[in-house]
Amino acid sequence: MTVMRNIVILTGAGISAESGIATFRGPGGLWEGHRVEDVCTPEALAADPVLVHRFYDLRRAALRDVRPNPAHEALARLDREWSGALLIVTQNVDDLHERAGARRLLHMHGALNQALCAACAARFDWTADLPPGTPCPTCHAPALRPDIVFFGEISYGMDRIEAALAEADLFVSIGTSGAVYPAAGFVRMAQACGAATLELNLDRSEGSGWFDESRLGPAGQLVPAWVEQMLSA
Ligand code: NAD
Ligand code: ZN
Repeated sequence: MTVMRNIVILTGAGISAESGIATFRGPGGLWEGHRVEDVCTPEALAADPVLVHRFYDLRRAALRDVRPNPAHEALARLDREWSGALLIVTQNVDDLHERAGARRLLHMHGALNQALCAACAARFDWTADLPPGTPCPTCHAPALRPDIVFFGEISYGMDRIEAALAEADLFVSIGTSGAVYPAAGFVRMAQACGAATLELNLDRSEGSGWFDESRLGPAGQLVPAWVEQMLSA
């Protein structure tokens, strides 16, 4: 049997669902009542900055009322106890992985509690509301925006993610629909590099056919069980 040392984990909105954060393509394909095109594109930000900034202000404020669930906690435990290489790549913009204690973590789609300067590209920790026109602390341009990777923009950390996938013995996808690229392509990249692949999701996803194994159920149950299995092997 191959020795598992290097693990790459991809998480999506499904891992935060049991904490009470709505997923993306839930009923009707809306995110908290909005069409994706109206809140998740550079065109939307240009057309209606007040609405887009307000949308993320509400998502950021809602973080105060939620807590990590057993799935986030189990991944944080794996991060602490796993002696091999490990990288948790999250598509989520909430902060529940870090609040659970995960450290080897990469937010490929940005983070609600950060601001990005559209003029100088500096990034700042940000917990307050962020109205359009807020000046950048570094370059003073009135150009701060939510640090969210919109559709059509380049995800963060792709070099680091691809390097980790190339070395991975195991790729695990948790709570993601497999509909949003480039993340949806990670399973094939991992497989091409020889990794075993496992999906943990509530129901079959668009990408299910690509995985060696799919376990179906709520992340709050599946993830702690899988982490226990990895740490006791
Ligand atoms: P998605 O909403 O497209 O898919 C969620 C997946 O999770 C579905 O396949 C669903 O079956 C599964 N799921 C739902 N509840 C689950 C549970 N309890 N346990 C396990 N699986 C469960 O989400 P996505 O694939 O992450 O892609 C959407 C995009 O939405 C990402 O880019 C992300 O940035 C953004 N988003 C983020 C958040 C967040 O930060 N929490 C929330 C909504 C959307
Ligand atoms: Zn700036």
